[in-house]
Amino acid sequence: MDDKVMVGDYLGTIEEFTPGEGTYAEEGKIYAAKVGFKAIDSKRHVAEVKGKGLPALAVGQTVFGQVMGFRTSMVTVIVSKIAGQKGNIDERTAIYVSNIDDSYVEKPEDLFGIGDIVKATVVKMDGNVIDISTKGDYGVVKAFCKRCRKEMEKSDKGKDKLKCPSCGHIEKRKIAKDYGKVSDF
Ligand SMILES: [Zn+2]
Repeated sequence: MDDKVMVGDYLGTIEEFTPGEGTYAEEGKIYAAKVGFKAIDSKRHVAEVKGKGLPALAVGQTVFGQVMGFRTSMVTVIVSKIAGQKGNIDERTAIYVSNIDDSYVEKPEDLFGIGDIVKATVVKMDGNVIDISTKGDYGVVKAFCKRCRKEMEKSDKGKDKLKCPSCGHIEKRKIAKDYGKVSDF
């Protein structure tokens, strides 16, 4: 029996199964380490996640995702698309404060908004931890006004400033070079 699973989905306990390919165990419980399909081998008592047919993330790829929230020193992003690959994924990733820009960033929430679409590169994959970066030409490709939620436009107030065409609000972002030119979202 195959069931679609997301990273971090609970699969069973280590008393029931041996953690197989595409899984990790934590405190006696087995979780999915990648997006795919849950596969239980009841003869060998192995729980696995098979990734057949789904695009898989790898270091160096360009990806697109949506900003979900902020933690002390990072931005959490759900990556849904890999540039040049068909199909959608659903991977929880993080942009650490040191991976946001080439210059020093104090507060990530000053440079992103919840719901913004970002273009980033995958810089580290370590178990279930996936780090992405918006350094260089990467960054926000679509942003929404924090006041009225309208899509923001580039402004003449500075290269890191966007303007809301509806209410006129000016906001700061880590803006990608091709801001507003990504049509997939
Ligand atoms: Zn607005």
